Amino acid sequence: MKQLPAATVRLLSSSQIITSVVSVVKELIENSLDAGATSIDVKLENFGFDKIEVRDNGEGIKAIDAPVMAIKYYTSKINSHEDLENLTTYGFRGEALGSICCVAEVSIITRTAADNFSTQYVLDGSGHIISQKPSHLGQGTTVTALKLFKNLPVRKQFYSTAKKCKDEIKKVQDLLISYGILKPDLRIVFVHNKVFITVNLPISTAFAASCKFCPPVHSCVFFVVGSSSCGMWDAASAWSDEQCHVRAQDSN
Ligand code: ADP
Ligand code: MG
Repeated sequence: MKQLPAATVRLLSSSQIITSVVSVVKELIENSLDAGATSIDVKLENFGFDKIEVRDNGEGIKAIDAPVMAIKYYTSKINSHEDLENLTTYGFRGEALGSICCVAEVSIITRTAADNFSTQYVLDGSGHIISQKPSHLGQGTTVTALKLFKNLPVRKQFYSTAKKCKDEIKKVQDLLISYGILKPDLRIVFVHNKVFITVNLPISTAFAASCKFCPPVHSCVFFVVGSSSCGMWDAASAWSDEQCHVRAQDSN
């Protein structure tokens, strides 16, 4: 028997954490929510295999933390396992960004309230910063992952059929719907290949925009359906009227 090289161990362990497009989106959204975001934009290209971008208006990442933000087991969320008793965040293991860097090309643009401008960091496969330059975005964080699974042919092979790719978009959609229900004040926009798939407006905006039926105590989700094949109405119609009222309309 021989011990596997460190790079191989890293790739194999990362591929256990990042198993699909939806797992990348989930990790990035949870980071956005942990950062206090009230607005999240998710953009995919080619079902996420060419590009996944998640942009939030959260607290941003301090310049002093940037060198370790994507190094595995660095986290701002706990100091030791005792803190797990009082966990209030989705993340705590410090593994997601590092794992995504291992299986995709990652860049992060971020700005805190104390910064005068945002900074774009380009990361290498082990999460270290390769380059950085000023950028123009406002407060918050945008994580971009290009060429997902470029170095994992087995994972890519799994998505070789159109059905598997479409299923993945549906899973992302379902995930976003779930967060929309969990967080009624969250604005989420989901775009695939520049086509709007789902918009979840914060409850206050949704009321102003259209929903005259929901009493304030109930969740209210407002969708714009940009594609007849997205299946949103099927998912939405499964909810009872008592839980929420759903409007669907063609965005075209
Ligand atoms: P974890 O969420 O378990 O801490 P991650 O690898 O997902 O690990 O993220 C590492 C750290 O990078 C986080 O602890 C957080 O400090 C910072 N971070 C990541 N994404 C964001 C974001 N969208 N906004 C602000 N900080 C972020
Ligand atoms: Mg995380």
